[in-house]
Amino acid sequence: MFNLVVFGAPGSGKGTQSARLINEYGLYHISTGELLREHIKQNTELGRVAESYISKGNLIPDELMIEILEHELDSNEETRAGVIFDGFPRTIEQAKALNVMMNRRGTKVHAVIGLDVADEELIQRLLKRGEESGRSDDNLETINSRLKVYHSVTKPLRKFYEEEGKYLDIPGTGSVEDIFHTIRHALEGINAD
Ligand code: AMP
Repeated sequence: MFNLVVFGAPGSGKGTQSARLINEYGLYHISTGELLREHIKQNTELGRVAESYISKGNLIPDELMIEILEHELDSNEETRAGVIFDGFPRTIEQAKALNVMMNRRGTKVHAVIGLDVADEELIQRLLKRGEESGRSDDNLETINSRLKVYHSVTKPLRKFYEEEGKYLDIPGTGSVEDIFHTIRHALEGINAD
């Protein structure tokens, strides 16, 4: 079994490639962004708190985000057969907490799929997505904030996972199929257990 992190800037194709990976490897998908958007849709207490951060392009505070993730892991037995973490971790603190959580469950993060896409391309993709997504954060002002947050707080995770020998650098431009092919090839070198 695999536990995989799909890592990259907003608009880098994490959701799209996660969907392919689920089909291929039969993994349980946890997208923290989708989870939060579901709470917003249901107008829960958490949804209202989350919206105040998301609409400004800010991250949900670590403590809250880690608690939400752990709850998701605990309430779904299927996670034991392997998980795709899509959009989590986004900070060093979250990555450390994920290591502890995996450790406690007798497993680990096997690999981190890092999707690399230039900022100009990300902005074009997110603006295009915004025409249809109805997401409060797919507008130019919020996109710029999200990219700033990505570069200052999230990108340093690349070094964190490189030092753990888990980072797979995947060029995130080209066709969805070609990118997926590169990912599959990179995963062939990973020992699943
Ligand atoms: P995403 O769908 O992954 O682009 O996430 C949308 C928004 O949800 C982000 O811009 C954050 O505001 C929030 N979010 C999602 N995942 C996390 C996380 N791991 N930590 C903090 N905030 C998150």
